[in-house]
Amino acid sequence: MRYVLVAIVAWVTALPIKAQDLGPHVRKIRDGIFVYAAKAQDSNVSMILTKEGVVMIDTGQTPVDSSAAMGVVKKLSSQPVRFVIHTEPHDDHTVGDFVFSPPAVVIAHAGAGESMRKAAAGTLERNRKQAAEYPDARGALEGYRQILPHIEYQQKLTLNVGERTFDLIYLKNVHSEADTAVWLPKERVLWATAAVGVKRYPNIRPFLTIPDILASIKLMRALNPEVVIAGHGAPGTTQIFDEMERYYALLLERVGRMARDGKSLEQIKAEIKMPEFDDWAGKERFPSNVDAAWKAVKG
Ligand SMILES: [Zn+2]
Repeated sequence: MRYVLVAIVAWVTALPIKAQDLGPHVRKIRDGIFVYAAKAQDSNVSMILTKEGVVMIDTGQTPVDSSAAMGVVKKLSSQPVRFVIHTEPHDDHTVGDFVFSPPAVVIAHAGAGESMRKAAAGTLERNRKQAAEYPDARGALEGYRQILPHIEYQQKLTLNVGERTFDLIYLKNVHSEADTAVWLPKERVLWATAAVGVKRYPNIRPFLTIPDILASIKLMRALNPEVVIAGHGAPGTTQIFDEMERYYALLLERVGRMARDGKSLEQIKAEIKMPEFDDWAGKERFPSNVDAAWKAVKG
């Protein structure tokens, strides 16, 4: 009888945890691969389980999300978080590194540490505002400190953890100073960075170019992924690439036509319409998109 009871307890505790038990904000992508985002436009936090520990891809929109993600990790695995991979250095992807490191080793592309150091004061201010606005967030913000990447790679890095292989691929001039796509070749899952988004206008900073963004999308599409996870927005398929390419094609076509008609950049900004994308978030970023399109069509 005692043996049976022990056997039942062992069987029950060995049952695989169901995605719905992880709360409404977690999506199971593949066996052992989960993505958390509390809101539709938040950055994605990914948790990948391996036989040799957990690998995180980004650590959350805010420290509150990082704590929530850590809670999910603890439900999924008794093993430590071994590595954190940054798809970009901005604090809405990296502010929660301190929740996982130590022991996690943080990996990013060259330039990430410098970008984070420059943004350090801004990140402190962002945390201060969050604590003031949301008293519930204060606990999660406790112990905050900036963790700069321990490893900065150049161009390409292959990371083998347990049974999984992570290919880190640098994407040039697509969103930040150090954007990393992460490709799991066996699982055919791709983390595509903020080079792409889901129903969201990109923030095209002055050093970025639309031809570079389009080249990166082409490079990522050539990997032939089955699952595509953008920096922000619901995980999907290569339809995410289709939609971004459609957006840039229409933007370049319209800005090009207006420029050929002799309109100035200011006139174009005032007159251009993109009704197909009216439901996208972040409309305040659209003028930066017109600037980039103007540069692209003017050569
Ligand atoms: Zn960003």
